[in-house]
Amino acid sequence: MSKVDLDVIPIMKPWLGPEEASAAAEAVASGWVAQGPRVTAFEEEAARRAGAEHAVAVSSCTTALHLSLVVLGVGPGDEVIVPSLSFIATANAARYVGATPVFCDVEASTQNVTVETIEPAISPATRAVIVVHQGGTPADMDAIRALCEPRGIEVIDDAACAIGASYRGRPIGGHSSLVCFSFHPRKVITTGEGGMVMTSQEAWAERMRRLREHGMSVSAAARHASRDLVIEQYLETGFNFRMTDIQAAVGLVQLERLDQIVERRRALAERYRRYLADVPGLEMAGDPPYGRSNFQSFWIVLPDGFPVERDDLLRTMMEHGISPRRGIMAAHLEPAYDGAVHHASLPVTERLTRRSLLLPLFHVMTEEQQDRVIDVVRGSAGLGSE
Ligand SMILES: *Cc1c(COP(=O)(O)O)cnc(C)c1O
Repeated sequence: MSKVDLDVIPIMKPWLGPEEASAAAEAVASGWVAQGPRVTAFEEEAARRAGAEHAVAVSSCTTALHLSLVVLGVGPGDEVIVPSLSFIATANAARYVGATPVFCDVEASTQNVTVETIEPAISPATRAVIVVHQGGTPADMDAIRALCEPRGIEVIDDAACAIGASYRGRPIGGHSSLVCFSFHPRKVITTGEGGMVMTSQEAWAERMRRLREHGMSVSAAARHASRDLVIEQYLETGFNFRMTDIQAAVGLVQLERLDQIVERRRALAERYRRYLADVPGLEMAGDPPYGRSNFQSFWIVLPDGFPVERDDLLRTMMEHGISPRRGIMAAHLEPAYDGAVHHASLPVTERLTRRSLLLPLFHVMTEEQQDRVIDVVRGSAGLGSE
């Protein structure tokens, strides 16, 4: 690696150590590398920590969202309300099952959907809402469920970014009927690629276990463990959405680090908030009154009248060896969603996606590195360093 690379402050860097390396090596040495006992152990430990009844590990959060819609029976002719302001996989999941994603707006301080933003998007065809806990900031689930349940609308949590965050004192994962997580390296803990669905419904958990493995009546691991001849059946058209035991071995170590990672991220987020507090009009990521973020993303939103444009600030940061990112994308502005349905206008989404950016934040970030980021933002606002 060149010296320049070492100096660049990345947007994110997973916290992986020799413990993960040896856990992966043990899985390899055991000879069982596909979905097996380590995946089961990973599911059990993740469910225990979140207070969830069932957890089903899959290949990504995208496939977790897809399976969630399949077990709900959502399909052609159905509408699924999703925030446009999200990673594109949220909206794509609805299309995978032949349903129509319908975009709704978000509320500015949390960047999350709310009762007020969901309601105008509801139609007689609405079957489900996918609620994104944006950048690890919990959405107000009780209020959203109170809106949706009486209307027979199912609620899925896209908690891709939200492991370790909490809602009304409980970890995200244990409070809803279908909660989907990601273990991509951009998220808070990682298995390289990977995902999980937590659910309170045993029948859904069972069906998702089958669907992730080609619709097989008996898992490969169970067949292998059996002393009798077991000939599996294929009960429905399934998928290959499995996680490997190598990934799960890494995930088990990562789960042990989760609390520490979240504490560190929260401390760094607090430092950003403190040292950027006097930038006039700047909005920043923070805890909502009812929950605790894991700060998977730390966004700032530039006010109108900020001395420089958002993209110029991004460029200035890159010139200073910092890798920021634009804020959360808006799916309805992408070519893949040209002409897509939205019953409501999306003014907050459009402002946020145009005016926001994500600042680097990762477990092993030093305060000196963070100060470099803070100084560039303050400098572009015409303020001196702190
Ligand atoms: C990252 C992300 C996803 C996709 O997760 P993968 O594990 O990469 O499939 C889905 N939704 C949101 C909100 C995300 O941030």
